[in-house]
Amino acid sequence: MKIKVKHCKLADAEHKEEPRIFAHVFHHKDVICVCKAFDKLPIENKTGILWHELGHLLGNKIYLYGPDDEEIMADMRAQAMGIRIWYDKDKIQWACEDIYHVAYQYNNNKTIVLKEKRKQKYGI
Ligand SMILES: [Zn+2]
Ligand SMILES: [Zn+2]
Repeated sequence: MKIKVKHCKLADAEHKEEPRIFAHVFHHKDVICVCKAFDKLPIENKTGILWHELGHLLGNKIYLYGPDDEEIMADMRAQAMGIRIWYDKDKIQWACEDIYHVAYQYNNNKTIVLKEKRKQKYGI
């Protein structure tokens, strides 16, 4: 599963309207659209946001029983992949890459490559 991360003017507009919104999906196929402000966020917020959005994209791949609330289900799908998404005081997604060894590379091509492998450094 290869997902690209791209800047999108609609994401900039949404962020301006609602400051805690930094990204969306289902605008372009296999793309997570992010606003410009996304780049300035700490890596933990980027991690949480990207995994939350991936949780939306995994809707047709991971079937879970849960509430009729797509925002909760997105986080639950990420959790099913071993990623716990938290929310910081600004209600922005947050995920601890060091603890959960989030399986993505945010490389220069802005392509996220999902990897199955997780490290066990913390024994969690
Ligand atoms: Zn977009
Ligand atoms: Zn969402």
